[in-house]
Amino acid sequence: MNSNQELVNYLLGTGYASEKIAKAVMKIDRADFVPEQLKQNAYIDSPLPIGHGQTISAPGVVTFMTRLLDVQEGMTVLEVGAGSGYQAAVLAELVGEKGKVITIERVAELVERAKANCMRAGYKNIEFIHSDGTKGHPAKAPYERIIVTAAARSVPKALEEQLAEGGKLVIPVGSSYRQDLLLIQKLKGELQVEKTMPVVFVPLIGEE
Ligand code: SAM
Repeated sequence: MNSNQELVNYLLGTGYASEKIAKAVMKIDRADFVPEQLKQNAYIDSPLPIGHGQTISAPGVVTFMTRLLDVQEGMTVLEVGAGSGYQAAVLAELVGEKGKVITIERVAELVERAKANCMRAGYKNIEFIHSDGTKGHPAKAPYERIIVTAAARSVPKALEEQLAEGGKLVIPVGSSYRQDLLLIQKLKGELQVEKTMPVVFVPLIGEE
């Protein structure tokens, strides 16, 4: 695939992206979120290195997770693992100007890069936080939606607590080699957990 249009057609064809998500992805050029020397690979469905041993996730995984998260206009979404800022930009497009994305990243240089990438793409509704995302961001909790884009050994307690009633949390949980992508919903205070598909993410490194 050599263009964003071809990538979007592929994401629609595989069913990873709904029409709404495909429209959002069409507005965001993945090439603007990958290092200069990898731009020719920006439209293939593969993770790519972004430095510090980290990756921008494969577009199929980004759109599948976004689909599970069921993001609506006006919502506030917490992301753990800003990386390149690409997933945050997709979420920012979906929540719109009335909504907000708060994204946490533990590597300081990536926070700055994600911020620069998202600003260049025109998103003003994203807040970037340099911190350990396993603790969430209590200051603005609870969150209607939480997405974790790194592999957790188990679901961090803070994120469970900061999920709003009726809220949804998407998180890969498992070993360092393979995880199950979980969709967790909080209903009447109880967490309902659904295993979706196997995934491979870089590890979530934090206290919890
Ligand atoms: N969402 C990103 C994107 O669109 O490019 C990809 C995220 S990358 C697969 C995972 C990121 O999680 C890395 O940038 C890593 O530094 C970050 N990370 C790992 N543990 C973290 C933690 N405890 N808190 C915040 N960020 C963390």
